[in-house]
Amino acid sequence: MFELKFDKNRCLNCPDYYCLTKCLYMDLDKDRAGIEMAKIIDYQDSSLLKDCVLCYACEEYCKRGNHPMFLISERLEEKNMTAVPVTFTQALIDSYDPLAEDLSIRNIDEPVIDMCWDPQLAYFLVQGRLFEGVSTLPGDMGSKRHFGCQAIYLHTGSPSLTKKFLPKIVDNIARHNIKEIICAHDECYGMFTSYASAIGLEVPFKPLHLFEFLYNKLEELKASIEPLNIKAVYQRPCSSRLSPDKYLFVDKIFDLIGVHRVQRKYSGEKALCCGAAIMHQAREGRQELAARIKNMNLEDMAASGADVCVFNCPHCFETLAEEVEKRGIKPVFMSDLCRLAIGEKPRDYGVHLPLEMRGTIKLKK
Ligand code: SF4
Ligand code: SF4
Repeated sequence: MFELKFDKNRCLNCPDYYCLTKCLYMDLDKDRAGIEMAKIIDYQDSSLLKDCVLCYACEEYCKRGNHPMFLISERLEEKNMTAVPVTFTQALIDSYDPLAEDLSIRNIDEPVIDMCWDPQLAYFLVQGRLFEGVSTLPGDMGSKRHFGCQAIYLHTGSPSLTKKFLPKIVDNIARHNIKEIICAHDECYGMFTSYASAIGLEVPFKPLHLFEFLYNKLEELKASIEPLNIKAVYQRPCSSRLSPDKYLFVDKIFDLIGVHRVQRKYSGEKALCCGAAIMHQAREGRQELAARIKNMNLEDMAASGADVCVFNCPHCFETLAEEVEKRGIKPVFMSDLCRLAIGEKPRDYGVHLPLEMRGTIKLKK
């Protein structure tokens, strides 16, 4: 069984406790943070078990390579304090257990993009010259359970399920003889890099973040770029905290295609979660908290003067796009923004993702 590698001495001698003092959802000074972290390490009850919303941000705040959120998630499970109802977890397992069905392997050519649990989005987002020749996994609607990254269980305080299923996902991809896989979502990239490494799971292929792929393709197609000359905000997905070294590609892409990122309060390390993960948690006050965060985020975007709000995560989009548009800002996925810059017209999905089309769309390869 895979085990979380966590160096408690790094925490007990920590000079800053940034993991908790920077947390946007708790108000802890350095002394209090040290006390609560010591309790968590020592399997004691702690306010963190009650107040942490499992947003991943402290994975970025910790500069010492420890994994505070992964540890909190483990302690919640050990103490039977999982953050969502058992029925919610069971519904996820029923839909996405990769061990429940055999996987048939097919021949596919690289480059390959992993669409996780949202294969239907490839019909809208994996299109045009940027994605010419790119194959998708899953390649048909029936096999999405075999490639979903299983990160959700870290958000819910059930990490043993991620440990159980993630090795199978890695194996399913590896069996296609793929050397490199483009991860459409930050969540998959974070699982194959940060979490796999944290539990000692070997990943025999190279994960490539979508934004790095897009940036490289735009460099190749540089002659076709017409600067967009628009102002943008970026809705940073919570799972981007697992790969802060890839966050710089937001600005690199914007610079290349003539997009000006406007200043706003909830950006970078202070980015607010869209609220999707929090609203499902069965803790007192979580619904209100999710609504409050969503509103703070939206008002901050509205005050920024942005023309567009750029997304990568489909769940952020589902949660925020409609409200973003009501505030006069156009919601757009990063891949579509890049397509616009090379003169292409993305497929129209308005402010609602085409989830109802699940199972009806033919994908590439
Ligand atoms: S998780 Fe990182 S930042 Fe937090 S106490 Fe431990 S070493 Fe310090
Ligand atoms: S996961 Fe989020 S809410 Fe929980 S301690 Fe870390 S930063 Fe705070």
